[in-house]
Amino acid sequence: MDSLLRLLDRLGFERLASFWWNWRLYRCLKCGEGLLRFGDQLSCMLCRSEFPIVNGVPVLVRGLRMTEAPEPASEADLQSVCRAFGISADSAALEHLRGVFGKVYQFEHHFLDAENNYLLERLAVARNGRSSVDALARQGTGAPRFAVVRHYIPAELPCATHSSHNVRIRNTGEEPLMRYSLGGWQLHGRWRDADGQDFGEAGRPSRLPVSVLPQRELTVPFWMQTPSAPGEYRLVFSMSAGGLEIGDGIAPIGLRISERVTRDYAALAPVVGPLQPDYDEDHRVGIRMMERMVRMTGARRGLEIGGSSCPMTTNLPAEIVNIDIDAQTLQVARFVFGRRGHRNVAFACCDALDLPFRKGAFDFAAIFSSLHHFADPAAALRSVSEVVQPDGFLAVMCEPAGHYYDDPDSEMQQVLEHGINEQRFTLDEYARIFHSAGLRAASCQLDHDSLKVILARTGVELPAITPPAITPPTTSPCDADPSSRLSCSSGTETSA
Ligand SMILES: [Zn+2]
Repeated sequence: MDSLLRLLDRLGFERLASFWWNWRLYRCLKCGEGLLRFGDQLSCMLCRSEFPIVNGVPVLVRGLRMTEAPEPASEADLQSVCRAFGISADSAALEHLRGVFGKVYQFEHHFLDAENNYLLERLAVARNGRSSVDALARQGTGAPRFAVVRHYIPAELPCATHSSHNVRIRNTGEEPLMRYSLGGWQLHGRWRDADGQDFGEAGRPSRLPVSVLPQRELTVPFWMQTPSAPGEYRLVFSMSAGGLEIGDGIAPIGLRISERVTRDYAALAPVVGPLQPDYDEDHRVGIRMMERMVRMTGARRGLEIGGSSCPMTTNLPAEIVNIDIDAQTLQVARFVFGRRGHRNVAFACCDALDLPFRKGAFDFAAIFSSLHHFADPAAALRSVSEVVQPDGFLAVMCEPAGHYYDDPDSEMQQVLEHGINEQRFTLDEYARIFHSAGLRAASCQLDHDSLKVILARTGVELPAITPPAITPPTTSPCDADPSSRLSCSSGTETSA
């Protein structure tokens, strides 16, 4: 099918190719058969599963419950949505939005609910109430418990060095691990040898930035100091608050401490961008990198993951399917983009870990500032890479790089408090995430703490984007005198 598509593209029958591609784009989540559209349903001819199309947006998420809203959205709320999207609040727009917010969506996973609610809160049309973890925390009656469910500590580390590694914990008890009570919970690590002899604290204890409710997870950076003597060690995690200490209930992590460490993956060697851009400029840099890749590779069909109501790839010369889990904002976005005359973008409500597309359906995929929201980013990349052509590319754009120490910044704190799975990875952690997903960096750029990477499958050659995709602005004196950069870049920000 793909060779036929490419032949049609090459012969100039692009519209026919598009029609063909779109016709059997979606797959059944249960049996994998192609879905056919009948009215407002996508139907599977094999297992008879049906998936709704709501306001033009296919909804293909397992375990998603869609019910009538307890009360209709107010006129003022709907008008504020129109303002937020810059569209006129005429009767057609209000009617559409009334339909969109006349339903409530509930996801099986609380992180998805949290993301959805947070967006709706920002649009002032929250329907499920506040989702702040501290507001939801209730003192339980059981004993506090936790487990380390994932960590990013390499199996081998050099001796007598400092490094920071993410550790993901899960509250496995019935008691919330509160941020405030008992002085707040802290994560500790201790070194032991194979015989269990204790070598003391393995680093600085990490304070939990937010409360962790029962059965929820949180990633915390752990600042580690390795032992000075090489050898086989075990790392044992515990948590403490107010003199109370609990073990993590899992086997210790085995680690080799060596004089010299060899890695089985390539380190990221990013081109460092010249300025500290603001959010919008940073995204424009990412879009420019992508545009060059799309033109160089002749890619025609792309998947954007997590673009919500503001997909970044719609101005690329390609057909785009923008997927996210917030069904309502996608429905609003489809309407807004339709009004603006965008014809190359489709919106679908899907989970990146459970994609309803056939293998190799896309020439490329793009993720802007969303990869780090996945509990298991490597699993998300593996899933996305399945639906991209073997010689295609994945663009991971504008991901926050580098750990926070002591406390996250106020923006990160706020989203954490909303229950969103916010986390930051170091460049080394990103390199290992990409490697374990079977991908390698073909181009890589770092603008302040914003990482942008074009990924190819291991063993596939892609044209590299060099020299840097952004060039220093010619009007700026920053380049002539590096010492003026700080004041100069902050001046750029205030004038922007
Ligand atoms: Zn089926």
